[in-house]
Amino acid sequence: MTEKYENIVIGAGLAGTICSGFLAKHGQKTLLLERGNKIGGQYMDYKFDGYTVAMHLPMLMTTWNGGFWTTAARELEANLKFYYSKEPKFYVNGAGMPPISVPRCYTASAMVDFALGLMGSHGEKLPSDAKQEFTKIMGEILGYPWKQMCIDLDNVGLKDWVESRSTNPVVRALFTNLGSSMGFMGDPKLSYETSSAAKVFTMIRGWLAGEGVTAVAVPNPVDGIIKPLADAFKAYGGEIRTGHRATNVLIEKGRAAGVVVKNDKEEKTISADRIIVACVWSDIPKLFIKMPVELEGLFDEPSKIKMGNVWTFTGLKRRITNEPSCILVQDPKTGANLGGAYAESVEQPWNAPEGKQLIWMYQVLAGEKLEKATKEELIVEMNDIQEAIYPGFKEAMEVQHSAYNKQSSGHYPLSSFKKIPQKSNTIEGLYFTGEGTTPSFGCISDGVASTGISTAKKVLGLDVLCGI
Ligand SMILES: Cc1cc2nc3c(=O)[nH]c(=O)nc-3n(C[C@H](O)[C@H](O)[C@H](O)COP(=O)(O)OP(=O)(O)OC[C@H]3O[C@@H](n4cnc5c(N)ncnc54)[C@H](O)[C@@H]3O)c2cc1C
Repeated sequence: MTEKYENIVIGAGLAGTICSGFLAKHGQKTLLLERGNKIGGQYMDYKFDGYTVAMHLPMLMTTWNGGFWTTAARELEANLKFYYSKEPKFYVNGAGMPPISVPRCYTASAMVDFALGLMGSHGEKLPSDAKQEFTKIMGEILGYPWKQMCIDLDNVGLKDWVESRSTNPVVRALFTNLGSSMGFMGDPKLSYETSSAAKVFTMIRGWLAGEGVTAVAVPNPVDGIIKPLADAFKAYGGEIRTGHRATNVLIEKGRAAGVVVKNDKEEKTISADRIIVACVWSDIPKLFIKMPVELEGLFDEPSKIKMGNVWTFTGLKRRITNEPSCILVQDPKTGANLGGAYAESVEQPWNAPEGKQLIWMYQVLAGEKLEKATKEELIVEMNDIQEAIYPGFKEAMEVQHSAYNKQSSGHYPLSSFKKIPQKSNTIEGLYFTGEGTTPSFGCISDGVASTGISTAKKVLGLDVLCGI
């Protein structure tokens, strides 16, 4: 006899696990499928020579509604393990200054002074009309009700929004720089032209305007965050199957009817009243013989954006820094974000062998740099930056691993391209959640968590869930 559930959720990342938790808590028979051998999705870690890289900078949480993954965990009674960590810092490459702490800027003028100091640190005198216009715009960003801002501006481009308020080239340059560093983008022009205004503003408000806090999961994001959420889901009667890949979402007479599932032994069909797709956006087209009409063409433009990323993971024979913050590196000449460096074992000493230290760094690449720079050249540049931030880095280096991915598709959720609806309006019982679905009420992990909650709310037909 065919197995039957009320809900099948495809993908046990943060969004799928949170969404499943609420469905089970409300008494619905729910199956969570994960193609990998363990749950957690992008919350992976990387191990080498006794070191563990939890490949996450501390997670940004918005204070709107208390932060979405923490609020979800509280309502699901999931025992998360994390602590609050130091806020990120900025480092202006080549300026000969140590990394700059981001002060908590509660007013537009305080934030403007900080941003101008950072972005104008190459010494140019900034005209007062630009400062005035920039302050007015920052005031508008700060005053926008958080959730409304996310709804209204997610599909609005940063460039269009800024230039409908000011055509001052200095204001444009400031937002280009801010967009690039807040969105971790190596190509400021691409960042300015494709970033979602809402996503950049949530980062500005979270990091610069004191509305966010960062956190370190203990001992890592899977064990400290995803597993407790999954345990809560199971405690409400939910079922998880790892090593089970959904190969096809079955649609019958305009309704989602089930999923074809493959594991290493068999392929079979499991029926359900509702299917919730919680895999990352680039995997969605593989699940449908015919794409739901509202998704047709949605991924064409984002797929054309060529981005990549390069990582170095370095084990040091001794401790050379006590710097706990992750450090965003800014290129003062171009306004590009040159990546982020993090001495992870300062806040997470269990990630390095006794007496040693773990530092890692990434760069997101696009444009000419992605086309032309070799992995070796990029690593030389990153090691120079790390030496400048953490003096003694090169001399203490014991082992270095690196990764270079030339086909990252990670920009879509942070872009202003049209996003995936959380409820299909053409296929009954078909839902989506996770990165790239809309509405998303924050950035990166916290935004993803908000989608897990709001999709569950739609499935359950509730007016409000977790304050959303
Ligand atoms: C290297 C890296 C660093 C990051 N750093 C940060 C950070 O510092 N702070 C922060 O807040 N965020 C960070 N992020 C982003 C954050 O990790 C993601 O936004 C978030 O984890 C996405 O969650 P998700 O549930 O939408 O998707 P995912 O985590 O991608 O989960 C989707 C799941 O679906 C599964 N799946 C896919 N297809 C199928 C199928 N056919 N059948 C069954 N299962 C399937 C996948 O295996 C996966 O487990 C980082 C991401 C990466 C990759």
